[in-house]
Amino acid sequence: MTATMERIVVVGNGIAGLTACDTLRDRGFTGDLVVVGSEECAAYSRPALSKALLKPDADLTAHELPASGHGARELLGRSATGLDADRRVVVLDDGEELSYDGLVIASGSRARRLSEHPRELTLRDLADAHAVRDALAGAPDVVVLGGGVLGMEVASGAVAAGCRTTLVATSEPMSRQLGAHVSGLLTASARVQGLEIVVVDGAVVEERDGCPVVVSDTGRVFAADVLISAVGDQPNIEWLAESGLLTDGVLSVDAHGRVRDDIVAAGDVAHWGGLPRLALWTNAIEQAKVAASALLDPDAPELAFQHYFWTEQFGHSVKAVGDLPVYGAPEVISGEAGGTPAVLRWTHPDGSRTAIAIDQRIPIPKLRRLTAPGADGNG
Ligand SMILES: Cc1cc2nc3c(=O)[nH]c(=O)nc-3n(C[C@H](O)[C@H](O)[C@H](O)COP(=O)(O)OP(=O)(O)OC[C@H]3O[C@@H](n4cnc5c(N)ncnc54)[C@H](O)[C@@H]3O)c2cc1C
Repeated sequence: MTATMERIVVVGNGIAGLTACDTLRDRGFTGDLVVVGSEECAAYSRPALSKALLKPDADLTAHELPASGHGARELLGRSATGLDADRRVVVLDDGEELSYDGLVIASGSRARRLSEHPRELTLRDLADAHAVRDALAGAPDVVVLGGGVLGMEVASGAVAAGCRTTLVATSEPMSRQLGAHVSGLLTASARVQGLEIVVVDGAVVEERDGCPVVVSDTGRVFAADVLISAVGDQPNIEWLAESGLLTDGVLSVDAHGRVRDDIVAAGDVAHWGGLPRLALWTNAIEQAKVAASALLDPDAPELAFQHYFWTEQFGHSVKAVGDLPVYGAPEVISGEAGGTPAVLRWTHPDGSRTAIAIDQRIPIPKLRRLTAPGADGNG
């Protein structure tokens, strides 16, 4: 298939787009490679935005990635606004039509908002991170809305910046993502460090006296100098609206990342193999490798990948290999179940395993080995 592909266009210059470009070159594509990216800067580490960049003494270059070596023509600060899949043309925001033989869709997602109020802050890109950082620096009171991992990382940054911080969530923070055991450890530590956590059944953002506030379903109002929402993300698929590629408003790909023979997708934008989106950094990387390979080679292997997740918050680091959330009591590999540092393991009903290291310097391959069938606690 490579021989017939003279130009491949990659839409999105995040980690999925970058990895797709690198993979295409690694797999021998020497043709015209063009990347279209809405952000003006080179691809960077998005996870660093809510971790390293929110520390009061932050290294403000912590998000930077090594310079890319793929040599693509980069159209940065430009957006795709349409796709004619039959004519194989991507339409750009200035009306330019970019033809392709192969297309990689890697346009990621954006933060979900609960209002249009400019003072409802969210954290998705580098500009957001600087805005949040600046806001925290001068704020006595902060409300974070959203009890997912991102909400807790933002709350951690706010507490570290010396802000009186309230986190409003619709369930115990991170219990849905991580399970009660690990989320319980982290939230207990966060509470000791001063985070107030309020669990409500539902909440909206409303404007009161010109400021955005959080209002719970029982009418309780949470007002603060700074409001930061971390209530999920939504895929950037509007530019595909007329393409015929969306099904029920969703971009679905098969286990190779294929939408059709000449179009693949990877990262936060796509639902893989009929499963719900799992918006994680290493997923975006592994999917992009598979999808870019599939564009060049009809016999390329499908995605076979064990999930990896990490978070850093309130002075703790968590690394997890395997499926999340985890339920029930863990098997203790080292440390203590209820304390840190510890390495813990869960075996799921289907026999698969998840290993989690908390505040433990352990190489990922070793953590991965702990999840192998029959592996004992020595990794
Ligand atoms: C603050 C934060 C912290 C995170 N922390 C973690 C973590 O600790 N661990 C973890 O596993 N995951 C984490 N994630 C998730 C992880 O960063 C994402 O899963 C990953 O970045 C997805 O990469 P992507 O390339 O698919 O999408 P994105 O990173 O969203 O990149 C897509 C790019 O495409 C651009 N784009 C959008 N539309 C268009 C268009 N029409 N035309 C051209 N360009 C377009 C966007 O501007 C963007 O630059 C975090 C995410 C955030 C926001």
